[in-house]
Amino acid sequence: MRRPIIAGNWKMHKTIAEAVQLAEALKRQQGEPQAEIVLCPPFTALAAVAAVIQDSPIALGAQNMHWEEQGAFTGEISPNMLKDVGCAYVILGHSERRQYFGETDELVNGKVKAALTHALTPIVCVGETLAQREAGETEAIVATQTRGALAGLAPEAVASLVIAYEPVWAIGTGKTASDDDAQQVIAFIRATVAAEFGNAAAEAVRIQYGGSVKAANAASLLSRPDIDGALVGGASLKAADFQGIIDGVR
Ligand code: 13P
Repeated sequence: MRRPIIAGNWKMHKTIAEAVQLAEALKRQQGEPQAEIVLCPPFTALAAVAAVIQDSPIALGAQNMHWEEQGAFTGEISPNMLKDVGCAYVILGHSERRQYFGETDELVNGKVKAALTHALTPIVCVGETLAQREAGETEAIVATQTRGALAGLAPEAVASLVIAYEPVWAIGTGKTASDDDAQQVIAFIRATVAAEFGNAAAEAVRIQYGGSVKAANAASLLSRPDIDGALVGGASLKAADFQGIIDGVR
């Protein structure tokens, strides 16, 4: 069975003090969660949040990473730096990175490989834009992005990672993909993984949905057979909202 995974992508929000407050509130509310819970604060708050959530069921993730271990890469953060600060996860290839910072499938692939080499679990984001959806290109886009990001990996490596299907038109817009749409595309991504890496990898890889997930829609999305969790932006910034999503996992 695939364990559901609920991750909060805080994006470029929260000072250190605000981040600590949110992490403390969430930590207080966790009993024995049904899902794996991951918080992805901005780089500046990673160390402080790591200190709050140690000895709790909550894990730490980063929102981006460079693929080199060290060197003259001004402004970048390496995989070993993320391990050093306590990260277990790293979001890679988020659509905002692709859109605003020019990340390509090839570059995302390099980051995925570097993360796995350093025992960080990548959360690999794929998803189509509104124009691509309206042109009937959703499956072609997510297949290309999935194959591109995972190129050259061993099936066991693919089995260990997380994919997030985030339709770009649903991010921060209040428009959620319908349960049927999300299930259908995620099943298609799983089939794409099966064709490239075999059935065992496809059955094991966890695939989240992301895009305007909130407490009111989480439970029904998460009840779908191929949807293994959620990658949450806006609704991860308040403890009550995020907890409402976590509570939707049954
Ligand atoms: P929203 O939940 O704010 O739509 O953001 C989704 C997202 O991009 C998570 O990575």
